[in-house]
Amino acid sequence: MTFEYAPAPESKAIVSIKPKYGHFINGSFVAGKKHFPTINPATEEILSHISLGGLSDVDKAVAAAQKAYTKTWSKLSGKERGKYLYRIARILQERAREFAVLETLDNGKPIRETRDIDIPLVAAHFFYHAGWADKLDYAGLGHSPQPYGVAGQITPWNFPLLMLAWKVAPALATGNTVVLKPAETTSLTALLFAEVCQQAELPDGVVNIVTGDGSTGAAIVNHPGIHKIAFTGSTDVGKKIARAIASTDKKATLELGGKGANVVFDDAPIDEAVEGIVNGIFFNQGHVCCAGSRLILQESIADEVIEKLKVRMSKIRVGDPLDKNTDLGAINSKEQLVKITELSAIGDAEGAERWSPQCNLSDKGFWFAPTIFTGVTQAHRIAQEEIFGPVLSILTFRTPQEAMDKANNTPFGLSAGIWSEKGSRIFWASQHLKAGVIWANTFNKFDPASPFGGYKESGWGREGGKHGLAAYLKTGKETGAK
Ligand code: NDP
Repeated sequence: MTFEYAPAPESKAIVSIKPKYGHFINGSFVAGKKHFPTINPATEEILSHISLGGLSDVDKAVAAAQKAYTKTWSKLSGKERGKYLYRIARILQERAREFAVLETLDNGKPIRETRDIDIPLVAAHFFYHAGWADKLDYAGLGHSPQPYGVAGQITPWNFPLLMLAWKVAPALATGNTVVLKPAETTSLTALLFAEVCQQAELPDGVVNIVTGDGSTGAAIVNHPGIHKIAFTGSTDVGKKIARAIASTDKKATLELGGKGANVVFDDAPIDEAVEGIVNGIFFNQGHVCCAGSRLILQESIADEVIEKLKVRMSKIRVGDPLDKNTDLGAINSKEQLVKITELSAIGDAEGAERWSPQCNLSDKGFWFAPTIFTGVTQAHRIAQEEIFGPVLSILTFRTPQEAMDKANNTPFGLSAGIWSEKGSRIFWASQHLKAGVIWANTFNKFDPASPFGGYKESGWGREGGKHGLAAYLKTGKETGAK
């Protein structure tokens, strides 16, 4: 006997979305000149209109951030800065439900994830960095490390508020001020965060948010008043940013793409591994830079794992992101759906075998069923390129060394997973995998104290932990100290 789930939709009543938004500059909302619509990707309903920031808006925001840096923020002690961060963290917790619903509406990700993962982690990042604000001299970064000044921050659409927190919290804790541009399709929670800054009585100009598209991001990157850039997004745009700042003294952290390998050895606990595989690729619709998008299975257990994976995937509930029982929500945009559809068609054309469970996908909105490809080889584009959707490429191996060679054979090096019962094998594999983050017998676990970042085309630098603080601080000779 099977039970059907009754609908369990979260109410939208808690959020109040304005028909139109301006930029948040110097502590106030200022009207934009041009606007573009932002939609709910699950229904294609227009939620609001967002301002398209131009050069003059970026100029004003940078001027406000510079003034706040010189006159206020750099004059406060770490303890005082920490108090603001604690206040922001508490307000975020108090308004968590509102943020979770708004993020789900704007992004398409399930409420279960925004409520239980995104927003609690956002608050955790502010709490964690609040604790560091008065202890920077003891962070192992040298005597009296100094902030850079104004940080330009550009965030993607896959974890809109969480990526804001990854960037704003360390910048503020270390004494920098901020000009941030959220992704074009998901600006609403950043604008609600601006209200939290007002509620926390953060001094004017410490956080400035200019909404817009890629040209707005480029204006921030190229602005001479910006001293440090923090970017999360595609490798292509990361390369453009690296080129743009090459002849300047701007510092940068770039968190770019990935093609994470999830390696399952024959001694792994199979049922747990199947849960980890599902979490690795279907969490957040696979819109995750560190997703376990390549499953590398020991040949002797491949059939069993794939059979169990199919059974588990048949239980994934795809649909209304606001329903509390939904596991897989909407794809964030039409453009992203086209990209996923095209790369999957390339997988078919290259001879890999596609499988998806039966799903009733709505005609409205952007949807893609959870999908696996078997018979994938290293030469296939679906084994090399980031699909950034709920699509898993499955490869097999016979020897542990072959597993490592296959896992490392992409231009990326962001994340990897190891599934094995033996500690010695886990240590051996983690020494051979070229990835910035390696999980053992789990996947997609995040913590503000843990540095995150990649090798090769996955980016520069680390965010989170002490390493993330270092990216916002001048140390040693950089401070001018003799
Ligand atoms: P982008 O890299 O284009 O976007 C990331 C952010 O950068 C957005 O705020 C974007 O603005 C901004 N941006 C775009 N062009 C420039 C520029 N020249 N200078 C400065 N900032 C710029 O990612 P997309 O949203 O276009 O997604 C494309 C692909 O990137 C995805 O399919 C996925 O593979 C990958 N991706 C990877 C992410 C990761 O976490 N590693 C996150 C998101 C995407 P706007 O939104 O207006 O374009």
